[in-house]
Amino acid sequence: MIENEKNKGSIQMQRQRISKRQKVNKNKSVSINPLVLGVDLGGSKILSAVVNVKGEILSRDRSTTPAAKGPEAVIQAMLESAKRVLNQAGITTAELEAICIGAPGLSNPKTGVVFTSPHLPRWTDVPLRNIIEKKMDVKTLLLNDTNAAALGELYFGAAKGARNFICVTLGTGIGGGIVIDGEIYAGSLGTAGEIGHMTIDTNGPKCNCGNTGCWETLASGTALAREAKQRISDGAKTSILEYADGDVNKVNAETVHKAAQQGDTLAKELIAQLAYYIGVGLANLIHIFNPELIVIGGGLSNIGDMLLEPAYKLAGERVNKTAFASVRFARAELGRNSGVIGAAAYAFREIGKLK
Ligand SMILES: [Zn+2]
Repeated sequence: MIENEKNKGSIQMQRQRISKRQKVNKNKSVSINPLVLGVDLGGSKILSAVVNVKGEILSRDRSTTPAAKGPEAVIQAMLESAKRVLNQAGITTAELEAICIGAPGLSNPKTGVVFTSPHLPRWTDVPLRNIIEKKMDVKTLLLNDTNAAALGELYFGAAKGARNFICVTLGTGIGGGIVIDGEIYAGSLGTAGEIGHMTIDTNGPKCNCGNTGCWETLASGTALAREAKQRISDGAKTSILEYADGDVNKVNAETVHKAAQQGDTLAKELIAQLAYYIGVGLANLIHIFNPELIVIGGGLSNIGDMLLEPAYKLAGERVNKTAFASVRFARAELGRNSGVIGAAAYAFREIGKLK
């Protein structure tokens, strides 16, 4: 499946700027409005976008990640996606200042190597940055996808102007991006920010990472669906199944949310339990980092106030009052484009076009 989106007016304006730039100034390092290619490599989809220095998307391409076929097939799919998105924008690789890839799992932004990723089978120590750079002949950068999302929010979204904040992505798992003093905190190898795997309950459910009771086993969309299925199988009285075609296997975070909106007691109870665990994890983050802001994104956050308000309240009950009073909570603003826009922001920063 391939979806293409473009904003014709914006592209036209950009083209005019580009042609003006080429006539006036052949030195790219001082060009008026440089362009980069941001890539959000996910376990299920590849999103590529040509982005300008204002964080505006000129063209976007979404395709399925052939994850099961291994690294070579995925890299080939990334190259094809890049070709399509450049065609859409009407530009060539020569007009790109840089490419930046946001990759899932553990990677090192300094060496450009993806160590391993739970969503990409057979990816072990893949030098992704160098491979793409060689094939595309454009300066290429790599960073973790959730760190990219945090940078996107910092430059163009909910965290503008913040110096110390944490971006929490609540989805099928939980991702994190930690920004300290305006910089991504990547740790010694570049694998920091794996907040979804902090232990909340040593006796809790088994996690994909091999541990038990990680935050994401208790406070993610997967956790909500698992608990709902369990309670339904145990015979609980609920309308959740009505939203899942009567099939317990189709129960997910969305069906629980729909039932809760209609006042279903079990659904409301499950969301309250989820909020509790989200709050516990947020309290831990506030204790450790004393952030000025926590940005909450990801599909699960679309449940909204019903989930987030009690989570914030619970966090407040578990944290020093002064530290808690200084924290602001905000919803992420960039949605599904946070990865590509954030990767672009990183590229612009690395080439000195963003401060
Ligand atoms: Zn884990």
